[in-house]
This record gives sequence, structure tokens and C-alpha cells, in this order.
Amino acid sequence: MDGGDMPPRRFFCRKGEEIMSAKLIKGAEVAKEIRAELKEEVQRIKEKYGVEPGLVTILVGENPASQSYVRAKQKAAHDLGFYSVQDNQPADISEEALLALIDKYNKDPKIDGILIQLPLPKHINENKVLYAIDPGKDVDAFHPFNVGKLMIGQPDYLPCTPAGIQELLIRSGTETSGAEVVVVGRSNIVGKPIAVMMMQKGPGANATVTVCHTRTKDVQFHTKRADILIVAAGVTEYVKGDWIKPGAVVIDVGVNEVGRTADGKRILKGDVAFDEAKEVASAITPVPGGVGPMTITMLMKNTVRACKVHNNIKE
Ligand code: NAP
Repeated sequence: MDGGDMPPRRFFCRKGEEIMSAKLIKGAEVAKEIRAELKEEVQRIKEKYGVEPGLVTILVGENPASQSYVRAKQKAAHDLGFYSVQDNQPADISEEALLALIDKYNKDPKIDGILIQLPLPKHINENKVLYAIDPGKDVDAFHPFNVGKLMIGQPDYLPCTPAGIQELLIRSGTETSGAEVVVVGRSNIVGKPIAVMMMQKGPGANATVTVCHTRTKDVQFHTKRADILIVAAGVTEYVKGDWIKPGAVVIDVGVNEVGRTADGKRILKGDVAFDEAKEVASAITPVPGGVGPMTITMLMKNTVRACKVHNNIKE
């Protein structure tokens, strides 16, 4: 399907030069469509095999942002018909007790996916906790075993935000094979994994990839030659319109809070100066409503996959 709206509209200025207006790649709509597909799949698995995907989300402490992320994940799991468990632990839980809890869920046959909401309190070693999750239940795909499998092109689970980006490219009909892809950002959760995924053999990939970061000498030199530009820098409206090659596809991963509305809602901006970029690009993801809604959806997709693997369901 076409992840966007309509084909790009074409405008011309008085001199007859074409002014582009990019097609919007609406992640919110694509996410809705994938969730509908997953819901059907979950129903079919339940009826045919008598099992349901099980997801536990573990929240330590009472950080309001973490609480809202966990609520959104639980709601998505519930809406899809999963067996879902919300496990709240006090902020002063010991590392040992948290590791014991993970061990319990590692052994629980009803649980297919284990998610620890980050950040954890300072007295807990985050890596130690994440690495204690059974890689087969690591639906965030943060465990080094899963990172390694991704690197060699044999992933069991794809990390959720990069998987969402790739899905948006595929479903918006963007040609990735042979494309020049430039990624701005090299974090372990977005920049590095999306770069690895785009250079693999396979659908939505086979690209030639460049990765930029704070030590890159001339970021614009690279962004200007990108057929597909993926920006995950965490800097509000960092990429300007004249940094973009005319006709490029732009994926803006950034989520930057720039203020609040009178009724307290967050005002969000991306890492790309959207108003300028949309006049140059052929397609672009908005913020909000672009990559964001895809992340939780891909987490749900991983959990369904985990359920199928754990129950030897091959369809
Ligand atoms: P991060 O861990 O802070 O990494 C940012 C990366 O961008 C770093 O590699 C950094 O380079 C690079 N960078 C920063 N400023 C730069 C500059 N001026 N020029 C070139 N490179 C620069 O961030 P992240 O976790 O990857 O997240 C990035 C953005 O995506 C944030 O806005 C975050 O909120 C958003 N995000 C959204 C989702 C979603 O679901 N939509 C998910 C995850 C993240 P160095 O390595 O050299 O420091």
C-alpha cells in the first residue's frame, strides 16, 4: 500500500520553475494498518493453536514519561488481544531482585516478550539487566546476541524504531536498492542499526550507506547527495531545506519537545526543518505522526513473532 497521502502535487512559480510539495509518509496510518494485520494474525493463532502472544512490561519507579510509554505499550498489547502483564516495581528495588524477576519471566511459558522500560534507577546496572533477558524474549532487540545476528544479516528480531523506518520505506514504495542512504546519528538504538539494516541484502535494503555524527567534517556534503535521508540527531530542525537533494525521501526520527500548549500538550518538532524540507523532498515523514507511531507497532510485531517461534508455529 501507499503509506502516504496522494502522489506529490506539482506547483510552478511565475518563472515556470517547479516547486515541489512532498508526499507525506504518514506513519500513524501505516501503524494502524499493520496493527489491523497483527490483530487478525493474533486471532488466527488463538483459534488454530490455542495460544496468545504474551508481553510483560516492567516499570521500575514512577517516572511520568516512562509511565506514559508503558501505558501506550500495554494498551497496544491489550487492543491486539495479547496476554499482557504490567509489572510495577518500586524505585528502590535491588539489582538482584530485578534480575530474579527477569529470570522468572524468562521461564514463564505464557510470556513471549519481556520489556524493561528505560531508564532504570542509577543503582542498577542497565546493561546487566538488559543482558539477563532471554534473547528469544528480547522483543526490543537490545541484547548483544540479537545485535550480532542483525549485523550478520540473520536477525530474529529487528530493533523497533529502525524496523518502523524500514517498513515506512517499503510501504511508501521507496526504491532502496542501489540508493544512496545517508543516516545522521550513530546511536545504538537508531543510527547504527538502521545503517546496518539498509546495507543488508533484501527488501527495503541493498542501499549504499553513509553515517554522519558530530565528528563528520561536512554533514551537508553528505546529506545533499542522499536519495534517502534518515535523521536521528536529537537536534531540533537541524537539517535545513537546502541540505536536501531535490526529490529525496526524508525520514525524520527526531522527537524534540519545544514547548507546551495552553492545555499542557507537548509541542513536538523533528530534526528536520519540515516547512523548508517539504518543498524540496519528494516524500517526508511528519513529526508527530511519522516514525513515532511505528515504534510500538514493531514491538507488537516482534512479540507476535516470538510467540510463533516459541510455539513452533510456521506460517
Ligand atoms: P542520541 O543517542 O542522542 O544520538 C544522537 C546521534 O546524533 C549521535 O550519534 C550524535 O553524534 C549525532 N549528532 C548529534 N548532533 C549532531 C550534529 N550536530 N551533527 C551530526 N550528528 C549529530 O539520540 P537517539 O536516541 O538516536 O535519538 C535521536 C532522535 O530520535 C531524538 O530526537 C529522539 O527523541 C528520537 N527518537 C525517536 C524515536 C521514535 O520512536 N520516533 C525513537 C528513538 C529516538 P555523536 O555520536 O558523535 O555524539
